[in-house]
Amino acid sequence: MPVIRIADTELRVANIYCVARNYLAHAAEMGSSIGPEPVVFLKPTAALSYPGQAIVLPDWSSDVHHEAELVVAIGRDGEHIAREDALDHVAGYALGLDLTARDVQAQAKKSGSPWTLAKGFRGSAVVTDFVPATAIAPPDVRFELIINGEVRQRADMQQMAFDVPALIAWLSSRFGLQAGDLIYTGTPEGVGPVQSGDVLRLTLDGVIDQQFTVA
Ligand code: MG
Repeated sequence: MPVIRIADTELRVANIYCVARNYLAHAAEMGSSIGPEPVVFLKPTAALSYPGQAIVLPDWSSDVHHEAELVVAIGRDGEHIAREDALDHVAGYALGLDLTARDVQAQAKKSGSPWTLAKGFRGSAVVTDFVPATAIAPPDVRFELIINGEVRQRADMQQMAFDVPALIAWLSSRFGLQAGDLIYTGTPEGVGPVQSGDVLRLTLDGVIDQQFTVA
């Protein structure tokens, strides 16, 4: 069973929710826009990949993209959580990569099929170590993805279309949230392919700084 550790607490990972479009400039680069409600998909827990594990690219895709995202860990169950209570349900934060087989996703979009394989393959949910919720103060948060020493994605949480309280309120009203659920909150612009040998470094305001190597 996949687990995450936040300070002294260990949480068994339950569901992995991912927000498809949450930054306008990324929606635009994908030829899309953002509607009045979040678009959400799931990854299986077997997709998780932790610090120290190499990123392994699937051999059935030739175009796996990085999507750097803030990841929220839920620490307390709830349904119909009010926006003003939402942050009380957060146990911690991490950064993650929603790795996406873009060629397979494009095919799925064309045929109207689910994104499960394109988004949920083994190792597609890369995640850093978690910091306690008190370690950062959303929405005054910025994060970066640096590949081989070059900044490739930069996000300011103030630019989110649906902020963390809005996502928690919405997800809890549609699915219910439980301790151990993770939320990948969407990526800013600048997505692109990853190659074998790349070193991907995720940083957040000096609080998170970890790197991953592509096998
Ligand atoms: Mg994403």
